[in-house]
Formats: sequence, C-alpha cells, structure tokens
Amino acid sequence: MVHDIPDSLTEVIPARGRTAFPMAKGQTLRIEDLEGQQAVDLICYNLDNLDEGFWAAHSAKLNGTIYLSTGHVLYSTLANPMMTIIEDTVGVNDVICGSCSYALDVVRYGTEKAKPGCMENFEAAIAPWGLRRKDIPMCFNIFLRYPVEETGVVSIDHPAPSTAGDYMVLRAEMDLLVAISNCPQENNPCTGFNPTPLGISVQSTADMS
Ligand SMILES: [Zn+2]
Repeated sequence: MVHDIPDSLTEVIPARGRTAFPMAKGQTLRIEDLEGQQAVDLICYNLDNLDEGFWAAHSAKLNGTIYLSTGHVLYSTLANPMMTIIEDTVGVNDVICGSCSYALDVVRYGTEKAKPGCMENFEAAIAPWGLRRKDIPMCFNIFLRYPVEETGVVSIDHPAPSTAGDYMVLRAEMDLLVAISNCPQENNPCTGFNPTPLGISVQSTADMS
C-alpha cells in the first residue's frame, strides 16, 4: 500500500507529552534527550497491518539481550524487523519492563501520588488511527536501564542513564506508525523526578528505496 508520508518531520515533545506519526521504510528517526535523564517509551505498528505491532519478547530473544543498542533490531509480533538501531550514545535501553501507567502508580505509590503515565499517553497518541488501549504493546524503553541481577532481582528504581544531548537513531525497516511517550513519571528516577522535553526528527536517507 502506498502511504502519504512526509519526507521529514521535526518536533519537540514537551515534558509529559506524546506524539504519533507515520514513517516510510528507510527513513530514520532521531530521538534526543534535550536536558538529560529523560526516559522515552516507543511503540510501533506495521502501517499496512496495524494488528502487527512491536513485540518486546521477540526483540529480546532474537537479539539475545535485554539491553538493546546499536545494531540491534526491534521485531514485531510476527517476528518481522521493524526498526534497526543505527546510533545510540547511551548504550543501555530496556526491553523487558514496559510502560508506567496510572494503575501502576496507584499500586506502587498510592492514589494520592498516582498520575497519568506512558500508557495514558500512548492511548491518546494512537486514538486517531483507530487503535485502543488494548492494542498497546509492551514498549521499548529508550534511555532506561533496569539492572537484572543473577538471582533474577530487577531494580526498577534506577535513574535514566542519559545526559543532555544523548540521542538514538533508528531506521524504519517497513512502513510504520510510530508512537512515542515522553515519560511523565514523577514518582521514580527514570526522569530524574523531573520530566523534560525531547527532540525528535525524521529524515529520508539518500539510499532509501
Ligand atoms: Zn513512563
């Protein structure tokens, strides 16, 4: 199917914000942490078949790691390559712990402190494409490290390792719908307790077919 996809896109996602946009196969997406310690949740769908989405477990198994970085591939529910990481200045990005949400905040921090999270951001971002909350897959956590110990213990209250100016570039391996949540979490250090803006840009590369 031929889609009407812009040649480029430049956007600043404000603190706690979100976005969703189509990408053509071969285009690159650059995501920059503008102020530092800002976790980014990313999901994507096959633009020709929105039932096929990013699948974290396939991505961990097929790359042989739970920390994705340069050269690793994001795989779909059908185990097709969706995006390849071609640059990553941080080097540690989680694929097993998923998104924050209001419901998770209630359990972890209580009703008083609970706020809308990345799941609520995704829900709003994908609504224009007719997708609903049940269609949201577990995300790819960019600029986030959840250390897993040999015993299996997972430390989820770990600061985002990025500093201002850190970035990742991903190449689309199929036509995609991409959704990004600029994590609004204020109750743990994945945003340094202080959500800040992200810069994103999409470019068409010279060798795209
Ligand atoms: Zn979040």
